[in-house]
Formats: sequence, structure tokens, C-alpha cells
Amino acid sequence: MNLLQSLDYSVLQQCMHCGMCLPTCPTYVETRRERSSPRGRISLMRSIADGALPLGPEFADEMYYCLGCLACQTACPAGVDYAQLFETARAEIERSEVARHPERDFWRWLTLNVLFMHPRLLRLVGWGLRLWQKSGLDRLLRRYHFLGLLPAKLRKLEPQTPRMAEAFSDSLIAPVESLAAPGARPRHRVGLLTGCIQDLAFSHINRDTVDVLLANGCEVITPRSQPCCGSLHAHNGELELARELARRQIDSFDLDEVDAIITNAGGCGSHLKQYGHLLHHDPLYAAKARQWDRKVKDIHEWLAQIGIRPPQPLTPLSPQSVTYHESCHLCHGQKVSRQPRQVLQAIPGLKLQELPESNWCCGSAGIYNITQPEQSAKLLERKVGHIRRTGAACVATSNPGCHLQLAQGLQADGIEVTQPVTLLAQAYRAEQAN
Ligand code: SF4
Ligand code: SF4
Repeated sequence: MNLLQSLDYSVLQQCMHCGMCLPTCPTYVETRRERSSPRGRISLMRSIADGALPLGPEFADEMYYCLGCLACQTACPAGVDYAQLFETARAEIERSEVARHPERDFWRWLTLNVLFMHPRLLRLVGWGLRLWQKSGLDRLLRRYHFLGLLPAKLRKLEPQTPRMAEAFSDSLIAPVESLAAPGARPRHRVGLLTGCIQDLAFSHINRDTVDVLLANGCEVITPRSQPCCGSLHAHNGELELARELARRQIDSFDLDEVDAIITNAGGCGSHLKQYGHLLHHDPLYAAKARQWDRKVKDIHEWLAQIGIRPPQPLTPLSPQSVTYHESCHLCHGQKVSRQPRQVLQAIPGLKLQELPESNWCCGSAGIYNITQPEQSAKLLERKVGHIRRTGAACVATSNPGCHLQLAQGLQADGIEVTQPVTLLAQAYRAEQAN
């Protein structure tokens, strides 16, 4: 029995072929091909589950051409659970080995089985990269075209390598932080997820998140050397590895001790809220995973829930005009769309310019910019054009993948890329400075 056959058949049957999702699907809008639409992909999955169609490389190509952006799920009036279908289809592709290729197998093994399964090793690579980038050797080799000697794959990856942070989260954040007087109970006690790429490249955003939480009466508990959340594995057909990481992640926290577990990365948060489903057959973890799902909150969602303390309007912030790009997995996966705007609107002196197509994928989509560079570049160009036309000096987003993708697209424009919590943290710091 293949994995698509093991799905509850009602999930496969739910699509009523209305086509409401078609104009929201970037790959359908680009190609106008039915098989590259959500409706077409679901129909292919159903045919494979029914045994009417063999699972072949064409199906694998189609499922890896899909961004997994979940815009179709938001548009669907029938409530089709496309996220579950998408992950199951990719898992079946990997199980059936139709997409195998030695080079692809090597990179998948190195990233999914080795680096993102071992947080200390990942951090060691981060240290190495930081040293390499700080030495200036990367710029020197680029200038003299020595990077052309690298294997093709590494040559393509090199410009996409994020700049490593000066210090990672464990050096910037204490295991427990609180502004409450000694012995006094804080208003809320929360756990913080530091992430993988967020930790290596954007640890200052984790620091900003802690500062914002402290300013809103929370005690923050940040376990050391946290594992990857497993979203990369689940989206790339490695469900068993994703389950293993989910168990480790749950074990990093005392769930009874905290009111919420906070994530500040849209892509991770969307997956983190699905541990209950991922582990529902696990007798030891099913109940804990359900409790976990109830506690995981995106930072903006949490701030809106407890009430954002408005910063005092003492010092005007720079930049003063900002637009907001929605991470797909924050708005479509988690349905958190209004709250990041509320965070931005709470900042005195900041003018929010609405971005046309703010919830249209920017082309980052996990590792899509590496696996499908052409389609990714088209989506980035579309996004960057909209951002430029707003006239905003800055674009805020809330996912490390989107952040890197937008920074790459806007590097010649002088438009800053940042995150709503960073702007809010700056506003609180300006209060203290006055
Ligand atoms: S996840 Fe995105 S790309 Fe894939 S079918 Fe849905 S809308 Fe299209
Ligand atoms: S909107 Fe939903 S029900 Fe309609 S075609 Fe798309 S997936 Fe099927």
C-alpha cells in the first residue's frame, strides 16, 4: 500500500473541482497547465491512490515544482487539506525512489540526514562559514573568479549562502530572562524556539523577540542547542526524520511550566503546530504533541493575544515607512495575517504601506530557490516590483527564507529588509534611551 492510499480517503475526495484555487496558485498562473494547478495535482494524487496511474518521474517533477505555499488552501471553499496531501505525496515519491539520482541523494543525505539532524554539527558549520566570511576570502575569490573552479552545485549555492551572525542565540540570550522583581511571578512564562537558519543568520531577531516579550511582561525560557523543528524534512518527504525531530523538540521543553512556546519564523511555526497530526500514532508522544500544538504561538499572534504594550512615542523611528510581505506559511499555513500588521501599527511614527499581493509567494519556499531557480527568480522579480512601487524605505517580513530572498532581490535598491519584532524592539529600546 502506498502512502497516498494510507490517507483517509475523504481527504483525497474533498476537492470538488470548482477551480477557485487556480488564480491563487503561482505555478498555474505561470504555466496555465492544469497539472501544475492544485486541482490538477490533487487529481493526480487521487489517480495514484486509486491505482489508475503509476507513480512516475513526471509526478515527482510536478510535486517538486509545487511551492508548497498553501495559497490554494486559503482559497479553497471545500477546506481541502492541501498541506497533508502535499507532504504525503512527497513522502511517497521518496519512498518509491522514482526521483533518485546520485547527486540529489548526496545533497539530501548531507542536509536532511546529517546537518539538520545534529544541531551542534550545524553550528560548527556556521562557525566555519562565519570565519570564512569574516576573513574576506569569499569576496577575494569571487573578485578573481576563483569560485568558477567549484563544482557546479556549490557555485550556484555560494551566492545564496546567508551571512553568518556575529554570535549565535545561546551567546545572546540567557537560559531564563525576566524583568519581574526577584520572587515575583511574571505575567506570563513562555518558551522560545530559536530555529536553525534563524539562529545562524538572524540571531539578533531572536534577541529582539526576547526583548519584546520581556517588555510585555513575559519571562522567557530558552533551552540550549535546540534541534531543528523538522519542517524541511516534512516538506521534502522525510516524515520519519520529521517525527524524530518533533519528539526531540517536545522533550526540550517542560510543557506544564510554560503558557506558550513562541516561534518567530513563519515556515517553522506552520509545521510546529502540526506535531499532533505528525505523532498521532505514537503512543508515547501523541498526547504530549496535542498539548504542544495548543501552546505553540507565532510571536505576533501571542502579542495580539496578550495585548501589545504600545511603546511610548519618544523618538521617531528610522525608517518611517514600511511595507509588509507575508510569509506563505504564516498567512496561509497559520492564518496569522492581521497580527503582524497590528504589531507594526503599534509603533509610533511608523507608516504602514500596504503591499499589493502581499500574500503571494516570494519564491523562497524552503529550498525552492535552489531546486527551481528559474521559477523562484520570476516570483522574486514580481515581488520586488510591488515593493519598489510602494515607495517604502523598508519591507518587514517574518520568516528567515523570505528575509534572505527579499534581501537578495533588493540589494541594489537600498530598501532595508527587517522583521516586525525588530522594529518593535527598536521602539522599546528608544523608550529606555530617553
Ligand atoms: S501549494 Fe502553492 S504552488 Fe502548490 S498547488 Fe497550492 S497554490 Fe499552487
Ligand atoms: S478550490 Fe478547493 S475544491 Fe476547488 S478546485 Fe481548488 S482544491 Fe478543489
